[in-house]
Amino acid sequence: MSRLAELRTNIARIRDEIEEASLAAGRDVHSIRLMAVSKTHPYEEMALLAEIGQLLFGENRVQEAEGKLAPKEGRTMQVNLIGHLQSNKARKAVSLFDRIDSVDSLRLARRLASLAPAPYPILLEVNTSAEASKHGFDSEDDLFFALDEIALMPNLIIQGLMTLGPLGGTESAIRRSFSHLRSIFERVEQRFCLEHFDELSMGMSGDFRLAILEGSTCVRIGSAIFGERR
Ligand SMILES: *Cc1c(COP(=O)(O)O)cnc(C)c1O
Repeated sequence: MSRLAELRTNIARIRDEIEEASLAAGRDVHSIRLMAVSKTHPYEEMALLAEIGQLLFGENRVQEAEGKLAPKEGRTMQVNLIGHLQSNKARKAVSLFDRIDSVDSLRLARRLASLAPAPYPILLEVNTSAEASKHGFDSEDDLFFALDEIALMPNLIIQGLMTLGPLGGTESAIRRSFSHLRSIFERVEQRFCLEHFDELSMGMSGDFRLAILEGSTCVRIGSAIFGERR
């Protein structure tokens, strides 16, 4: 089988699984977008996916993305940053990525607000599994405190929230983490008047069905599309 045929098969299988999960959740399948997480994979793989209509990608490192992506202007793909961003790479990141899905501190938001072209879309990352190794706002209080200020930054558009489920957690721990993000999302909606707040990015290859049951609008899939990362 050619690589293109292989990728096509994998995407079709995942789309079927997304549809099954959305039916089980009583949700419209069109409310869930599939992001192909292309970190560690060469640009050629992304181009093959683009050929079959997969145009949304996630990358986790500025340096790697810089080495393989065409400039944002004139690119047909949408590429979002989903990994931790250091302040000193923020300028490069906003010029390279269509959205930063991993804004995990007030400090980073301030930095982005000072240099992003307006209007620039972001997601706020929440650490819902209390794992110290993870990035993201650690609690709803921390998030709300930051939002009091970020919501007023005129050139940042807060489009939603992002989280990672506990790695190697039980099914119930993973679901708890996703439902926690969803309830935070609902309280942010009530408390802050955000015009474009509708993205709940959660779910990866191993847990995207659970994420869809808990309301995910964007699943971030790497290994189930490309195969295991080396
Ligand atoms: C790598 C990565 C993914 C995809 O992981 P897979 O298990 O390969 O699907 C999703 N989200 C983030 C933030 C990642 O770093």
